[in-house]
Amino acid sequence: MPDAPTPTDAHRDAFRTDLLDWYDRVRRDMPWRETDDPYRIWLSEVMLQQTRVDQAAPYYERFVDAFPTVEALAAASLDDVLRLWEGLGYYSRARNLHEAARLVVDEFDGAVPDTMDAIRQLPGVGPYTAAAVLSIAYERPHGVLDGNVIRLLTRVFTIDDEVGATRTRRQLQALADALLDPERPGDFNQAMMELGATLCAPTSPGCLACPVQPVCGAYATGTQEQYPVKKRKPPVPHYDIAVGLVFDELDRVLIQRRPEDKMLGGLWEFPGGKRQDDEPLRETCRRELQEELGIAVEVGPLVQRIKHAYSHFKITLHAFRCRHVAGTPISCEGQPLEWVALENLDDYAFPRANRRLIETLTERDRQPSLFD
Ligand code: SF4
Repeated sequence: MPDAPTPTDAHRDAFRTDLLDWYDRVRRDMPWRETDDPYRIWLSEVMLQQTRVDQAAPYYERFVDAFPTVEALAAASLDDVLRLWEGLGYYSRARNLHEAARLVVDEFDGAVPDTMDAIRQLPGVGPYTAAAVLSIAYERPHGVLDGNVIRLLTRVFTIDDEVGATRTRRQLQALADALLDPERPGDFNQAMMELGATLCAPTSPGCLACPVQPVCGAYATGTQEQYPVKKRKPPVPHYDIAVGLVFDELDRVLIQRRPEDKMLGGLWEFPGGKRQDDEPLRETCRRELQEELGIAVEVGPLVQRIKHAYSHFKITLHAFRCRHVAGTPISCEGQPLEWVALENLDDYAFPRANRRLIETLTERDRQPSLFD
């Protein structure tokens, strides 16, 4: 593998002058660009991981209304934090943010750390988030590397090594740091991300309007869409999940809280589990409720079938109405369980697929003949 390309003076001029001029002209308004509060900048960077700007913005506004300071976030319950995060996905971000806020209050006197070593001690703060917060909030000279910046750099420098490889990442980080404008590191990083997110799009990039086009190797050779080079992804697995909508004699439905150390940890869900081989789905539902909660149920009609995609797999959720026949539900993993009236389900944070099911349930609750 060849060594990392070295930026020339022409590269530095293009990035530090033309790119920043372009950014000053076209930068998009975003709520977190109106603050210099390190806590809010950190919050926005966490929300923007894996999430589009237009999706994150309303969540950001609601979140800072509810928790305007890091102290307020640290004092909140995890349930309250997850409820505000519901629908944004990647819930480990919310759990880590909450835990990190407590650490900032307890160990750093409520000030978001301003050095790389210290900020990396916070849960959920990796190299990208650390560089973004340090440069934007504190003007520290750390180049950011997100998917948009990686695409931009691999095109400008025609880097055809696989971008997931550690060595390539190091080369790209070295390039981002070398190009960084030491006078305006925060704006520089935001300009890089903005250019990658807008003009230097994955397909049909807008090269004619691009401020760094004069130094772009991919533009010069017409090979823009060959970059970045990525490993082929394996096919995404699919699972059938059967869940039980188990009602008690007061017409309350049974829900359970997911363990905090698992995917979607801390969120609530309807109990159930994965289908084994070609098992009939009603049998999956009956078996899972027996194994996981120790209750016997009579599995009734299918209420809804919902398809949902996560980052690494897809599911089809099959929800069955169930009649509780015997046994007191006790989670075999010690998870909290609750019987909840349908109108109170909004007080709990659920994953998106379960929330869609709740919408159907509350709709049918108003029209019970459709459901029984
Ligand atoms: S010239 Fe085109 S490919 Fe090169 S950085 Fe600009 S938008 Fe991307």
